[in-house]
Amino acid sequence: MRTPLVAGNWKMNKNSAGSRELAAGLASGTRDLRGVDIVVAPVSPYLNVVADALRGSQIGLAAQNMHWAEHGAYTGEISPTMLLDLGCKYAILGHSERREYFAESDELVNQKVRSALSHDLIPILCIGETLDEREAGKTSAKVVRQVKAALSGVSNEDAKRVIIAYEPIWAIGTGRTATPEQAQEVHAEIRKLIAELYGTTIASQMRILYGGSVKSENIAELISQPDIDGALVGGASLDVEGFVAIARACTR
Ligand code: PEP
Repeated sequence: MRTPLVAGNWKMNKNSAGSRELAAGLASGTRDLRGVDIVVAPVSPYLNVVADALRGSQIGLAAQNMHWAEHGAYTGEISPTMLLDLGCKYAILGHSERREYFAESDELVNQKVRSALSHDLIPILCIGETLDEREAGKTSAKVVRQVKAALSGVSNEDAKRVIIAYEPIWAIGTGRTATPEQAQEVHAEIRKLIAELYGTTIASQMRILYGGSVKSENIAELISQPDIDGALVGGASLDVEGFVAIARACTR
């Protein structure tokens, strides 16, 4: 059985005090929750502040991005070993905002995924189609291409640890959620592809999250779908009550 996972992507929000307060609120609000893995991804300068506030809680720490190299002349970047040093267990990779605004290619995302895995960080690999692609009937082709490219060269042993987040770009930050049926259809397709690439055992173990305007009001229907194993949450993860409600709805 796959343990659901709920990850909060705080994006470029919250200052140091706000990050500490949100993390502390989530730590106490989720203390009694069982049967769900909970992760938060603050901005990188406050990873240590949040790590401190989460100490003793069940919440895992994620980076929103990562460079593939361990060190070197890469101004402004953060390496996998630095993220480990800061207490991260996960790294969100290939988010559509990074692909769109920072020109991250499939090849770069693949380099990052392989680097994360080789450093024992769990990649939360984001994929998803634009509205134009969906309307042109290209959703399947896009997600298949992104998954294949991101996992190129990833062994069966490493693939077991990958988490995929299907995030239709037209649903991110727009208030427009994919219907549970739309999301389930793509999730089932991704799982089928993983089975082709890595076999049915790994496919049945892999967690596939949905992301795109998830809130406490729509999570129950989404998580009731057979291939939806949790959520990557942006806006609604900035509010303690809302995010705890989402995590609670995902407990199994
Ligand atoms: C995201 O950016 O990963 C996301 C899903 O954002 P939102 O929940 O705000 O749509």
